[in-house]
Amino acid sequence: MNTPSIYGLTLDQLEAWLLEQGQKKFRAQQIWDWLYIKRVLEFSEMTNLSKDLVALLSDNFLLQPLNQVVVQESADGTTKYLFQLEDKLMIETVLMRQEYGLSVCVTTQVGCDIGCTFCASGLKRKQRDLTAGEIVAQIMQIQHYLDQKGNGERVSHIVVMGIGEPFDNYDNVMAFLNIVNHAKGLAIGARHITVSTSGLAPKIREFAENGLQVNLALSLHAPNDEIRSRMMRINRKHPLKEVMSAIDEYLEKTNRRITFEYIMISGVNDRPEQAQELVALLKDKRHLSYVNLIPYNPVAEHIKYERSTKKDILAFYDILKKNNINCVIRKEHGTDIDAACGQLRSKHLEKAAK
Ligand code: SAH
Ligand code: SF4
Repeated sequence: MNTPSIYGLTLDQLEAWLLEQGQKKFRAQQIWDWLYIKRVLEFSEMTNLSKDLVALLSDNFLLQPLNQVVVQESADGTTKYLFQLEDKLMIETVLMRQEYGLSVCVTTQVGCDIGCTFCASGLKRKQRDLTAGEIVAQIMQIQHYLDQKGNGERVSHIVVMGIGEPFDNYDNVMAFLNIVNHAKGLAIGARHITVSTSGLAPKIREFAENGLQVNLALSLHAPNDEIRSRMMRINRKHPLKEVMSAIDEYLEKTNRRITFEYIMISGVNDRPEQAQELVALLKDKRHLSYVNLIPYNPVAEHIKYERSTKKDILAFYDILKKNNINCVIRKEHGTDIDAACGQLRSKHLEKAAK
């Protein structure tokens, strides 16, 4: 078993651990200050702790469990990081510069078992779930990188849209959300965090109950079961009717707006009749819905799929708009650096295999 990262402990868990070790509870807050406010890189820099406590922390925890392997910077400011975990597996994380701030796209699993037919991550079976610490560490690595630049930049937004299905690693993802959102830590606002799921209906229901104000996005991608099951085999297990009923429950309980992601693939899901079907599917919840039309990022291994033409995307968009469905065409980031999640890792693994 690898040494756990201290980034994986919620403040409550750290307090409980300290008490178990015969330490004072208030030390937890001091440690969190060093981790998330002063953001030190070594336990030995925590100068208001006793030598014994520093030794106890170093014996039991790692501070940074990720090793940076590759950093690619794109012309538009998007930066992609390839990290190696302690057991040598690779993950990737992306930093995007938006008008509203700095957004980080985190990975939650090594590979993904959902196996969507259009996705680079779905090509490889899941090797394991990431721990909460490894997910928080992605944010911290990038925040440290920004700190070193010295211009006071802060990660302000998080999207849980990297490799993996967050709801297939539910408990660790919830602990991660709790840690980064906590007012005494990084304090990244829940409204600035979005979790994307392929549609694990029971977990959508559970998420509706959790009380965090975090945004939810559903990878819808198709307006009917026939097309959706072809693109996403998870739809055979949790068909649209079940997923949409879980979404209705989420909307009723939280009254929060939900984003529907819809990647546009030529001839597969981008026809005007499919736009009409989508309108019908979302009509009764359009006051709380937002559709994100995403131009498909071609993946070398999925040659049967091509990105929709600009003309087709605009025509699809027009139909949604005319029917009063809130909708945007998503701006792309870092297409010059394999920025579609999973692509950098996929390339690196290929190289390693050669
Ligand atoms: N597993 C979760 C979150 C990670 S994927 C989910 O599927 O929602 C994040 C988003 O990227 C999803 O909407 C996914 O469908 C989309 N995506 C995957 N491969 C893509 C590609 N090649 N081009 C554009 N979007 C892609
Ligand atoms: Fe997994 Fe999401 Fe990729 Fe589907 S789109 S294979 S759920 S990461």
